[in-house]
Amino acid sequence: MQDGLESRLLESVEQILTKYRLCNSCLGRQFALLGRDLSNYKRGEALKIYSTLIASELHELKHEERAVQLLKLIAIQGLFQPARETLHKWGIPIETSGFCYICEGFMDKLEYFRDLILQQVQDWEFSTFLMGSQIPENIIDREDTLRAELNLKYGESIKGDINREIGKLLQTEELQVDFDAPDIVIILNPVTQTVDVQVNPLLILGRYRKLERGISQTRWICWKCEGKGCDECKGKGLRFEYSVEGFIADPILKAAAGTGYKFHGAGREDIDARMLGTGRPFIVEIKEPRKRKLDLNALETEINTLATEKVEVSDLSWSNRGTVRNIKAFSQINEKTYRLLVEPQTPVDNEKLKEADEVLSGATIQQRTPRRVMHRRADKLRIKTVYDFTSIPKEDNKLEIIVRCQGGCYVKELVTGDEGRTRPSLSELINTEITVIELDVLNVQS
Ligand SMILES: [Zn+2]
Ligand SMILES: [Zn+2]
Repeated sequence: MQDGLESRLLESVEQILTKYRLCNSCLGRQFALLGRDLSNYKRGEALKIYSTLIASELHELKHEERAVQLLKLIAIQGLFQPARETLHKWGIPIETSGFCYICEGFMDKLEYFRDLILQQVQDWEFSTFLMGSQIPENIIDREDTLRAELNLKYGESIKGDINREIGKLLQTEELQVDFDAPDIVIILNPVTQTVDVQVNPLLILGRYRKLERGISQTRWICWKCEGKGCDECKGKGLRFEYSVEGFIADPILKAAAGTGYKFHGAGREDIDARMLGTGRPFIVEIKEPRKRKLDLNALETEINTLATEKVEVSDLSWSNRGTVRNIKAFSQINEKTYRLLVEPQTPVDNEKLKEADEVLSGATIQQRTPRRVMHRRADKLRIKTVYDFTSIPKEDNKLEIIVRCQGGCYVKELVTGDEGRTRPSLSELINTEITVIELDVLNVQS
């Protein structure tokens, strides 16, 4: 044993309490890095118990002056009942008043805060949470000053302390702490005794097929009333009654009792194009959902019943924020297959058509933003790869075209050339203007 080292902790406690009145948690927090699997409350309580026992033994050994001095410190500055009781037994009654210098008593109200929080979150269904707190600057300053003044090196922040301890009180088998993607974030201000709840969105992944032309992927707000509802839109506030996102997200929004939604598609097809094959991946994001335990199979059936022969969803599953980012990024690189029905202005020689197919299969094309989307997209040059291009002559001089190409490629323009803004194009290669009659997305790789 090294002389004096063992008593350093007691010296430190005496030094702290001589200057500052501290509750168990706030004293224990100054030694948070010592010992594991302990709360700061227990650390503080243990130090006060230990000091009380030392004082009691000093009293037995007739070092009364020192015994009383130490015990008074623990009773008054440590706000410690067993020390008060011991002094009382020695015939020294002590009146104590006042609060902890750092927290002014709120660290002793953790159970009260837990109940307050449970009351505030009762309207929401959630199974994971993250505990946060707002601690006024002056409280943090007081603790920083105390540590600097007494050169204390084992402390942790009061924020980390209260978050962890209330988190432990809230945690049950059905309710777990999640640091990465919690259902809700609880922010407690222990001074004003107020609770803020941030409800994170609910994310549902799926695939949709669009079986009918003329349905926009996104909802178009009525231009005349800006969504309020007018004669033009028959009170619906929408330019078109139907949209893919409306068909899919409305029933989910209702079931989750949220405040709104966002629809993230892995790219989009034109309003006049069908989306066939195995469908296009999407994620519906429900904001501030009150319900999270949804029956996805039942939802799928409900959506498909309401949208019969127009839109169809499949593979509904729970998703996360990372997938939302991926679905957007991926839609620019993943492969898509399209079918077009087109009409060249002049009859085309089969041999010439074959040559054009060969040039376009495997071609790297340069594509400026199409004129038809210029009003909502910046004009820029895209370089895209066409993997396969096959033209099949049909009756009345029409052509059916099957194109497999990189995501983000504008296929209508690959055929029409868009007045030279897409090069090469089928129109350029067979030297005639072409009208696109129909467009279907046959497959979206995922
Ligand atoms: Zn305190
Ligand atoms: Zn309107």
